[in-house]
Amino acid sequence: MALSDLAPADLTAFADAQRAAYAELKAQGLKLDLTRGKPSPEQLDLSEALLTLPTGHVAADGTDVRNYGGLAGLPEMRQIFADLLGIPAANVVAAGSSSLTLMHDTLVQALLYGRPGSVEPWGVEDVVRFLCPTPGYDRHFALADRLGIELVPVPIDADGPDVEVVAELVAGDPTIKGMWLVPTYSNPTGAVCSEEVARALASMPTAAPDFTILWDNAYAVHHLTETEVRTPDIVTLCAEAGNPDRVVVFASTSKITFAGAGVAALAGSEATVAAYLKGLGFYSIGPDKVNQLRHVEFFGDAAGVRAHMAKHRELIAPKFAEVQRVLAERLAEHGIAEWTDPVGGYFVNLDVLDGTARRVVELAKEAGIALTPAGSAFPYGEDPRNRNIRLAPTLPPLAEVTAAMEAVATCVLLAAAEELGG
Ligand code: PMP
Repeated sequence: MALSDLAPADLTAFADAQRAAYAELKAQGLKLDLTRGKPSPEQLDLSEALLTLPTGHVAADGTDVRNYGGLAGLPEMRQIFADLLGIPAANVVAAGSSSLTLMHDTLVQALLYGRPGSVEPWGVEDVVRFLCPTPGYDRHFALADRLGIELVPVPIDADGPDVEVVAELVAGDPTIKGMWLVPTYSNPTGAVCSEEVARALASMPTAAPDFTILWDNAYAVHHLTETEVRTPDIVTLCAEAGNPDRVVVFASTSKITFAGAGVAALAGSEATVAAYLKGLGFYSIGPDKVNQLRHVEFFGDAAGVRAHMAKHRELIAPKFAEVQRVLAERLAEHGIAEWTDPVGGYFVNLDVLDGTARRVVELAKEAGIALTPAGSAFPYGEDPRNRNIRLAPTLPPLAEVTAAMEAVATCVLLAAAEELGG
């Protein structure tokens, strides 16, 4: 029965049972962590061969990868990203290890010099605002905030951002210069941007002529089932709509090979790539091509990446299944929580009873289970309903995922019982 339907005496009994369960939980002295979306050591082991690569130092075009140069990256690495992202290799830059750094570069360049189509650098405007599909990736929001960009939350559905809300905002407000978007298996809800949503975003009229979508395809190939969801081809959609420079695409191998030593990519229209490389040329003489060649030798081609991701899936799909099992068994009947069941990516989005997310995280912490701070997935960390918790089950071993989720369920139930007056 739903907790809210219980008679007062039954609610009190339920709350007492949860307090007892929680006391037992605390007595176990657990030390578990579901905070960040990191690959597990077993996942990193899949790429161990990288440590003995590359076998040589000459790229396909004769480039000596040990030396300076090749600002846009090795052609064969660009080709792998091109095939994975469905974007011509000429429109792809293969860079250093972090796509987040490329996003930072892109925003800083826009603020200082403007983007293709800008009348002035964004930085001379009094106000620059960015739409933030929410819940979303905390580092996106923090990065924009740090650069003085105001964050405007917009809803996200299972098929991507709410385009009606987005279209209305961008049509009337020239201070809205762009938006964040994780198109495939979004962090944290697992949303997948549909072709229709992508087409609408590519073609909608915008008051700012240089409105820019930062299309962060961090989880493009991170499928949790055998179905490989295809990301809409946003670069072509923008070009077809007459807005070729509207999008900058990002990706990386952070959760494919080594999270600290992968290869990141930036892509977009010819003008977008040219502008990025022009800026980059002032602060880099070329990327780590040794690491790129290492990755090229390791994968061979895009099919090699896909085969490698199937091995990741085997390791992490059971952990996601375990999260679903525990949530369903422990919470479903009580009508106090909802959660996503993603078919890819790294996260499960858990919405607990309104007003209790912070309490759940606090209870979990006191019992030794680290959860991402409540509200993290919201601009400025402000979850107006105080109900959202992001779960990241990839890092701990399966047995720890089970233990941590059982503990989370106990905390969710106790916090709900308290909130309802039990
Ligand atoms: N984008 C998203 C949506 C992410 O979830 C993450 C990692 N949590 C990143 C980017 C970071 O990517 P990178 O390691 O390439 O900087």
